[in-house]
Amino acid sequence: MNVPFLDLKANYLPMREEILGEITEVLDNTAYILGPKVSAFETAFATMHGVDHCAAVSSGTDANHLALWALGVGPGDEVIMPANTFVATAWGATLCGATPVFVDCDPRTYNIDPAKVEAAITPRTKAIVAVHLYGQPADMDALRTIANKHRIALVEDAAQAHDAQYNGKHVGGLGDICSFSFYPGKNLGAYGEGGAVTTNNPDLARKVKMLREHGSERKYYHETYGTNYRMEAIQGAVLGVKVKHLHTWTENRRRVAARYNELLRDVEEIVLPYEAHNTRHVYHLYVIQTDNRDALQKHLSECGIATGLHYPVPLHMQKCFEHLEYKQGDFPVSEQLGAQCLSLPMFPEMTDEQVRHVAESVVAYFASSTAAKSTLSSVTV
Ligand SMILES: *Cc1c(COP(=O)(O)O)cnc(C)c1O
Repeated sequence: MNVPFLDLKANYLPMREEILGEITEVLDNTAYILGPKVSAFETAFATMHGVDHCAAVSSGTDANHLALWALGVGPGDEVIMPANTFVATAWGATLCGATPVFVDCDPRTYNIDPAKVEAAITPRTKAIVAVHLYGQPADMDALRTIANKHRIALVEDAAQAHDAQYNGKHVGGLGDICSFSFYPGKNLGAYGEGGAVTTNNPDLARKVKMLREHGSERKYYHETYGTNYRMEAIQGAVLGVKVKHLHTWTENRRRVAARYNELLRDVEEIVLPYEAHNTRHVYHLYVIQTDNRDALQKHLSECGIATGLHYPVPLHMQKCFEHLEYKQGDFPVSEQLGAQCLSLPMFPEMTDEQVRHVAESVVAYFASSTAAKSTLSSVTV
């Protein structure tokens, strides 16, 4: 039995007619950029996240850039962020001409460790970016306390966390400003590139909307520098249909995660995802840790199971950040995660048969692998 990492076709087919109808309307109306479909989606997305303002943009990376740009981050500034995230989190800072400053993550949640953030603050620090990694919100209360104390901004990167909650509140309005991605494989994905910036701050919302459209509110009158980060109408039309299903998909992801937890709980050689008591994890990824990661991945591939690594190399060890002079050992938790993480298949349409095949293949690997046991015992001794 083959189990894909995710199945975009299974997701699309039940909505096919509705989506084609919406796209046809865009083509017939010839409003190809922003316009009514995008506005309607912005309203729906903001409403479901309980946040006042939403600006739909051209990608999650562009949303990362806009969030910091609107805050006034620029050359000479420093932006604190976790070392274990997708590189686009850092592009938000570098595209502003600012320097990313990495900190380690919490060993249980894998999110930025607030206890490590304060030590990284300097007079140049302008913002902290909290990434809600794998779909679990970061510890926003602790980060808010630090941000307020130092009068710096708190930004959310919710590219992996649509519909996630922290203390009963949705992500998107927990910090000063938030970025989302609608890359096709994300929990809410467009049929092309897409992203959004959300905020409860009307001034920041206005700035983001101006920056995404050439620094102007009125055509051909440019108040500030800007760029073109607008969302295409076809993507707004697709997202407008898909956003109505997001809660259901979230429930299904949580059901798959609960089933994995149940089927894998007795495997001593792996660490399962941890869900903090005050968060509602949306399982963009279901990530386990094991000493035998590469061998397990190979075994699963032989069983027809696709897996992923998120992320094999933490940002401080990437060649592109060599000039920042971090070294191996600086962020041990992120480094261990890079060496030991394995993402199992996770998508809302996963059948119980598929989940069982994955879990049984993991269990079988450790039951038969004496190599796995000896590695573990040598570590324990
Ligand atoms: C996907 C992702 C992004 C970038 O989104 P794109 O839409 O692909 O540009 C940014 N940050 C994180 C954490 C992501 O996972």
